[in-house]
Amino acid sequence: MVLSVFKSGDELFNQGIDLVKRKEYAKARRNFEKTIEKGGREAALARAYVDIIDACLDRDNPGKYNKLASTLDQMKEDFEFGLTEINPPRVALECRLLAERMEAGRMPGGTPAQAEAKGNRFLDVARKYQAMIGNETIKISEIVGIPVNTGIKEALYAQTVGYENLALGAVAADPKRAAELLQNAYACRKQAGEDAQYILNTINAYSKSVKCWICGRPSTGEGVHFLAMPSDISPFMKKSDDDILKSTPADYNSVYVCRPCYSAISRRSDDIARQYHERAMQEMRAMEARLQAQISSMAMMRR
Ligand SMILES: [Zn+2]
Repeated sequence: MVLSVFKSGDELFNQGIDLVKRKEYAKARRNFEKTIEKGGREAALARAYVDIIDACLDRDNPGKYNKLASTLDQMKEDFEFGLTEINPPRVALECRLLAERMEAGRMPGGTPAQAEAKGNRFLDVARKYQAMIGNETIKISEIVGIPVNTGIKEALYAQTVGYENLALGAVAADPKRAAELLQNAYACRKQAGEDAQYILNTINAYSKSVKCWICGRPSTGEGVHFLAMPSDISPFMKKSDDDILKSTPADYNSVYVCRPCYSAISRRSDDIARQYHERAMQEMRAMEARLQAQISSMAMMRR
C-alpha cells in the first residue's frame, strides 16, 4: 500500500474552505495557491478565493477590487465565500464601484478646480450606486468587513462628499453658491440618517455677511473672506449704533476684518518681527564673539 504524504489539489482546496470559515485567511490563501499550482478540479474557484482574500487583507486598496472584478468576470456560476453567497457578475460590479469610490477619495482637492473635479467624480459614483445597485445590499462590504449599506445609502454618502467638494471648489469665488451646494450635502446626509450639524455650521459661516472694521467693505463667508481678529471694544464703543459694531462676534472680544486687510496686517507684522529677530541675532553673535575673545586672552595669560 502506498501512502501519499502529499495532499491532492482537491484536498488542499477543501481544507482552504474550512480555513475561510474560520476566517484564517492567510493560511487559506496558501492552500488555494497550491490548489492552483496542482491544477485541481477547483483551480478556477481557488483563483477567485485568492483574489477575495487579497481584498480582505488589503481592503483599502482599489487595485485589489479591480483585480477581483476581472477574475469574477470569467466565472459563470454562483459560489460561497464563508457564509456569503456570491453572484459573480453582481459582486464584480460592486467591486468596480467600490474601487471607483476609493479612487475618487484619493483625488487631490487642494485647488478650486481640483475640488470641483473631485466633487463631480463623487456625484458620478453616486448616480451609479443609485441606478445599478438601488435598494439591494452591497455584498462585497460584508465579505471584506466594511460597513454594509444598500446602494441607495452608498449613493447618499457619495453625494454628500460630492457636494461638499463642489462647495470647497466654489467658496473662493462665490460663497453664496458654496452655501447652496452645502444645502444639498446637508439634505443627503440627513436622508442617510447621519448627523449633519457640522454641515449646518459651515453653511452658517459661508452665508454670514459683515462689514470690515478696518476698510468698511462688506464681505461674506466667515473663515474664508473675513476673519475675527482679537481686539478690545470699549464699553463706550459698544453703546454706539454704528452698523459696523454689529460686525463683531457676540462676546465683543474680536472684530471682523476682511481677508485683504487681515493679510496685509499679518504680512507687515511678520516683516517687522523678522527684522527684530535678525537684529537680536546679530547682537547675540557679536556678544558671543566678544566673550570668546576674552576667554582666549585669559587662557593666553595663564600660559
Ligand atoms: Zn477690510
